Amino acid sequence: MTDDLEPARRWLDEARAVVVLTGAGISTDSGIPDFRGPQGLWTKNPKAELMSQLSYYVSDPEVRRLSWQNRVRSPAWTAEPNAGHRALVELQRRGTLHTLLTQNIDELHQRAGIDPARVVELHGTMRRYACLDCGAGGPMKEALERVRAGDEDPACVHCSGILKSATISFGQSLVPEVIDRALEVAEEADLLLAVGTTLAVYPVANMVPRARHAGARIVIVNAEPTAYDDIADAVLRGSISEIFPQIVRA
Ligand code: ZN
Repeated sequence: MTDDLEPARRWLDEARAVVVLTGAGISTDSGIPDFRGPQGLWTKNPKAELMSQLSYYVSDPEVRRLSWQNRVRSPAWTAEPNAGHRALVELQRRGTLHTLLTQNIDELHQRAGIDPARVVELHGTMRRYACLDCGAGGPMKEALERVRAGDEDPACVHCSGILKSATISFGQSLVPEVIDRALEVAEEADLLLAVGTTLAVYPVANMVPRARHAGARIVIVNAEPTAYDDIADAVLRGSISEIFPQIVRA
């Protein structure tokens, strides 16, 4: 990692169109657990992974009641952006941040100060809800108020359909326009910075070979090995909130 630190810093200084791809690892230092890491939600409770499948959510009211309770209690509501999120704001200040693609649903990038127009939320946002039947939606806090008031599984006020956070669950397709935009910007990057993701989930992981093929440098920052370490120009392994401020100098 020490060998790759200096070149990564230099390439980031020189880059003119940085596309950043972030995953759960950038938010763990803000107190939001990831899924598959050592302290991950699914590592500690494999049943939770099962519960995150859309088919269970739709077919089992008990899964929905538990999901609503988890949403009410989510640590993400009080989480603050960390040094990793803030370092990306520095790229935006320099004018070199092309687009920020995120697998995260916590909106901590926007709260840190990234222009929402530059953020592509590949997996949606937990700060809104949507009806699985008619598509109507609204701010999540409105749905959570209904849960707190005693409605354990609030239904759509328009069609009585099932409500869920406006995020992509397992078994649910990504939004094609969102993926198309992400693949497009990956090809416009002169540097792709992948942060806090093991790059194991497709089609999101495809951004890396796409960018590489289009001539971009690839810099990967993650606590654990990723699927594309072998095609990266630099791989920095460790705490993101410690590494980032070192490679993105204010
Ligand atoms: Zn509806």
